[in-house]
Amino acid sequence: MNQNQIFNRTRRQLAGWYVLVTGLLLSICGVGLYQVVIYSQEYILRQKLESLSGTLHDSIEPFLEQPNQINNNVKKLLPGLCLKGQVCQLPKDVEKRHIAGVFQQEGYYLRLTTLSGQVLATIGQQPQGMNQKISIEFWQQVNSNNGESFYQISLLLRTQTGLRWGYLQIGRSMVEWNNYLMTLRLLLILGLPLAMLLVGGASWWLSRLAMRPIYESYRQMQQFTSDAAHELRTPLAVLQSTIEEMGLAKDLEEVEQNLEIMKRQNRRLSSLVTDLLLISKIDQQKFFTNIQPCCLNELILDLVEELEELALSAGVTLKTDLPINESIMMMGEPSQLYRMVSNLMTNGIQYTPSGGIINITLSCTENYILIQIQDTGIGIAPEELPRIFDRFYRVQSDRCRLTGGAGLGLSIAQAIAHAHRGRITVKSQLAQGSVFTIELPYQNFSPVLPKN
Ligand code: ADP
Repeated sequence: MNQNQIFNRTRRQLAGWYVLVTGLLLSICGVGLYQVVIYSQEYILRQKLESLSGTLHDSIEPFLEQPNQINNNVKKLLPGLCLKGQVCQLPKDVEKRHIAGVFQQEGYYLRLTTLSGQVLATIGQQPQGMNQKISIEFWQQVNSNNGESFYQISLLLRTQTGLRWGYLQIGRSMVEWNNYLMTLRLLLILGLPLAMLLVGGASWWLSRLAMRPIYESYRQMQQFTSDAAHELRTPLAVLQSTIEEMGLAKDLEEVEQNLEIMKRQNRRLSSLVTDLLLISKIDQQKFFTNIQPCCLNELILDLVEELEELALSAGVTLKTDLPINESIMMMGEPSQLYRMVSNLMTNGIQYTPSGGIINITLSCTENYILIQIQDTGIGIAPEELPRIFDRFYRVQSDRCRLTGGAGLGLSIAQAIAHAHRGRITVKSQLAQGSVFTIELPYQNFSPVLPKN
């Protein structure tokens, strides 16, 4: 396959398209995955901040008395709360307090601000260099002066009497999150070319697998065309030389001899063309035109009658062993079934030396009709057996063409058997003879129907 330009080009194109389409799908999946991760992480972060701020909001509010004033109850509730302008130290037991403990975690902070956004007190690591006065939108993404970004929630606090006290703000650093996203982006960006490389290798291999059956049938077609041309060339060459010799013929006898040669070659040509046409029909499955019940007993008897003369001239005896009181019927194309059995019988006659016997048996098993053609002929060597059903294949020693045709008889017979959902098998021994067995399904037979 590698030497053939068309197949190589098609293989490259197939692999190329495969890589392109897979690459596109992988990119879409990668971007989709990235978006899903962002969305889900943002959702989790918001949920976390919302529940924390909600709990704190509900705990603090009952203790608030005067707007912008932080009393001792609030300080007790929030250990580690550092008022603006004070130098603060964390109380020793802060880790034991759940709420305050949260703000000891990396990246979390809490602020209590006035209504105008002035910071009154804080807990946790404050964003460095961030404006003291900050916006009080519900959700906010804020940046410190060193470029660090924070996700922040602001909730309005009211005093016990319902006055607007100020704001509770809880934030979380996005550094860890941004680093995570960057790693994910990097993985996707570096992983995609690597994946494409692997996909490229796989698609090159897959395209070879996909091309193999097409290449195989192309090779068979090429082989078939060259074999057919070879078979046609010989009779045509003989015809050409005979015609040339006719011009030089000295007497009527020589002319008649030449005419006889021409007739023979013409017969050979037309039988070859008929076989080629039949093969083309088989290939296109335009094969069945007249499916009807066929009586196989009658078919065999007709054939014996037709081939009797040929057998006589070859000095072989045709014998039959058919069920006496039973007609074996099947659905099929009579002319094709006739052709199938005829090919095997003719072979039997051709490859059996004078004095031999050809025995044709018709029988039934539970599921199959069996037609056996047994001869006492020259037999077939075991190494040849697997190839004798190939088109144009003739056993080597037979190449002299004293006997045999173009090597199409068995392949046609096998194709007809297959089309009737059956098969032909062979057993043979050199110089002992051969047994060809046709197995055809007996019940529920439905032939392979023609394609339009
Ligand atoms: P051909 O038209 O040349 O007979 P076939 O396809 O019918 O071609 O047969 C293929 C080859 O199988 C033949 O060349 C022949 O050597 C071998 N063969 C077929 N039938 C027999 C048989 N009954 N006995 C011995 N050899 C056979």
